[in-house]
Amino acid sequence: MIDGLDTQDVRELKGVGEAMAEKLARMHLHTVQDLLFHLPIRYQDRTRVMPIGQLSFGDEAVIEGHVISCEVKMGKRRSLLCRIKDHSGSLGLRFFHFSAAQKKQLEAGKRVRCFGELRRGSAGFEIYHPEYRVISDDEEPLASNQLTPIYPLTEGVTQTKIRQLCEQALQRLTPYNLKEWLPDDIRQEFSLSSLSDAIQFLHHPTRDANLEQLKQGCHPAQYRLSFEELMAHQLSLIGKRIKAKQDASIQVTSAGQLSEQLLGQLPFSPTNAQQRVFQDILKDMAEGHPMLRLVQGDVGSGKTLVAALAAAAVVQEGYQVAVMAPTEILAEQHYLNFTQWFEPLGLNVAWMTGKLKGKSREAELHKIASGEAHIIIGTHALFQESVEFDRLALAIIDEQHRFGVHQRMALREKGMKHGVQPHQLIMTATPIPRTLAMSAYADLDSSIIDELPPGRTPVNTIVVSDQRRQEVIDRVQSACQQGKQAYWVCTLIEESEALQCQAAEDTAQVLQEQLAGISIGLVHGRLKAQEKADIMSRFKAGDIQLLVATTVIEVGVDVPNASLMVIENPERLGLAQLHQLRGRVGRGQAASHCVLLYKAPLGQQGKARLSTMRETSDGFKIAEKDLELRGPGELLGTRQTGLWEFKVADLQRDKALLDDVQKAAGLLYQEYPEHIPPLLNRWLPNHAQYLNV
Ligand code: ADP
Ligand code: MG
Repeated sequence: MIDGLDTQDVRELKGVGEAMAEKLARMHLHTVQDLLFHLPIRYQDRTRVMPIGQLSFGDEAVIEGHVISCEVKMGKRRSLLCRIKDHSGSLGLRFFHFSAAQKKQLEAGKRVRCFGELRRGSAGFEIYHPEYRVISDDEEPLASNQLTPIYPLTEGVTQTKIRQLCEQALQRLTPYNLKEWLPDDIRQEFSLSSLSDAIQFLHHPTRDANLEQLKQGCHPAQYRLSFEELMAHQLSLIGKRIKAKQDASIQVTSAGQLSEQLLGQLPFSPTNAQQRVFQDILKDMAEGHPMLRLVQGDVGSGKTLVAALAAAAVVQEGYQVAVMAPTEILAEQHYLNFTQWFEPLGLNVAWMTGKLKGKSREAELHKIASGEAHIIIGTHALFQESVEFDRLALAIIDEQHRFGVHQRMALREKGMKHGVQPHQLIMTATPIPRTLAMSAYADLDSSIIDELPPGRTPVNTIVVSDQRRQEVIDRVQSACQQGKQAYWVCTLIEESEALQCQAAEDTAQVLQEQLAGISIGLVHGRLKAQEKADIMSRFKAGDIQLLVATTVIEVGVDVPNASLMVIENPERLGLAQLHQLRGRVGRGQAASHCVLLYKAPLGQQGKARLSTMRETSDGFKIAEKDLELRGPGELLGTRQTGLWEFKVADLQRDKALLDDVQKAAGLLYQEYPEHIPPLLNRWLPNHAQYLNV
């Protein structure tokens, strides 16, 4: 039995005592194997002497030349400036801390070899405080054939130290003691090198390695590791799904009368897409195992109705349904919709948020626990311990991207007693690019509502500089005078909710002064639930013509008569968020407009984003662009769950690998299931958390 490097403690290495081991532990380096996976963030090429004339700003390089001058400069800070010259050009070596001996050592005519990063100094290219050595004319050429690794550090661990430790770890590495969990046939099929070769290479690439590739993270050796890591993630999700699917759930065998009655009351009929997705849901719920389904539908595609139909089918069977929304406002919208739809059918709809206190809270809790409530609408307060369901059989989670995976799991735990799990229906209006969906939601089935209800008019989006603010205000005025309604959305970079609300209040006040005779309402996150609900219903009723709001109205608000939206400083928002906001208009018959009132001048990214908004209203295209511009963590909002903390991989950069990763994960699952647990342990030491909640 060979002792794997994963069982060798870092303390076994030379130069690691208790204190050092503690510092290493801060970087999650506990074993010799951990050091091997502690990969350089970049490399320096100290293997060749570069001609000065070929260098550009920011380069790090070894250069050699003759000193042509060496003088103390007074300037803002006293410094020693030594000019050196080779056959191709010259540059300055600048020292802010120097000794007389140094000045003497670097006198004109001496030959020096130095290493450092090129900056733009007051006298052209300069290197500040280079590493240097005075050399003789017949000095040996550079010896090393390997690029120099630069590792991530933590306080108290120097670059030299970590290099020594990684070096020792590499010396211990043999093809046998770093376990290879990808069998030969899989590696061959997907052209992957062995793990130990890849690791060896990444710590010490040779000088002919493609530095540009390494920098981008797309060298085959890096791909080898990313591939394995992505496989591990995929396998953990597959495992989670398989495990969840083994549980028992209540069987819902038909759509039932309630859903018929619900449809009978509506002034419209469901779209084909809504019907199809409802059928997907019924099929899942008939199986006796938990449904795990993600419904993606662009803003305004009518997800709420699909959710209501699913709820009706479950209530029909005598069970409870929970509907959870990420914000209070959105939960209120659902509450209004569901009461309007279901109370006439004799159902009881309960309400639960964090702000609900005292007697009314007690009353709602009682209704939920006793089973009197059929449908319970709320925010994440539904997870709270005090909320006990009587017989929860379906959890509907709206706008999934706002909730972490863990929260979703927590609601599952609230399921029925006796080991019966609730079905889960997850709805998102942020379309998830296929690449992400594959990796982030491999545990879910997915349906797409790919059709909007008839009669929607596309929103015309225009991008306007805030120098033309007055024109925009005039436009709002004339729209309101014509009986239309409008939104004015205020954004702020500051995280603070208080500041956001303040900004909205100020804006509302200024607009009110400029728009005499127009009734203006204000909503933001700091209003009481009741105040918000009042304002929203007055806006819905048309009593309020212009609604000034923070981005709290981003999701779910539905006022078809509103046909104009002004978004201030849209350059600060992500595309997905802008798309959500814009989806609040274009819901009625009138032609709708969205004015993106940006603060000039716009940066490169800002321009790219706003023109995407102008050019398309296709949520999927926008999501792809957003992913490209901002990365998956932002897009899914699940960064904090740890699901996105890849060590090596990067979903965006490595997306071309994902198809193969999925295939390889399938193969491993079929043929080498015993490799899965150790593979998960290597890459997701906390995976048990995902699996067991
Ligand atoms: P979202 O998918 O963004 O959550 P909603 O469920 O809020 O969309 O629906 C948006 C609007 O479309 C609501 O006013 C809803 O009543 C209406 N609606 C939903 N389905 C249909 C349909 N089949 N025909 C007409 N209007 C519909
Ligand atoms: Mg919605």
